[in-house]
Amino acid sequence: MHPLKETQSKVLINCAFCRGRGKDPFGIMSYLSTCYACKGKKSLSVAKPIKGCAYCQGTGVSPIGARNYCLVCRGRGIVTIPEVAKVCPRCGGSAREPSGFYCIKCKGKGVVSKKE
Ligand SMILES: [Zn+2]
Ligand SMILES: [Zn+2]
Ligand SMILES: [Zn+2]
Repeated sequence: MHPLKETQSKVLINCAFCRGRGKDPFGIMSYLSTCYACKGKKSLSVAKPIKGCAYCQGTGVSPIGARNYCLVCRGRGIVTIPEVAKVCPRCGGSAREPSGFYCIKCKGKGVVSKKE
């Protein structure tokens, strides 16, 4: 992950879902249709602190029902995590339920707030 721009509270990154192209990576409508994760803007901002999305492993693509963006990071490949985080005790950091859906405790981030 290489931020395009970084401020104190946010980072601007290339949309992982379309790899910064701004076009639908799967060409569902057509190869020229707009990426629905970034709405064609090619980049997305994420509030800090950030971590690679454990659920889609940074691809921005949903591990289930591929061709959709990852519901955890919404195509960013990166998520905002709690200020003080620890590995999620429910999924052990895999971010998944045995069913394949994202972990309901950490909401697919693989980490939870240490204060919990
Ligand atoms: Zn995009
Ligand atoms: Zn994701
Ligand atoms: Zn979890």
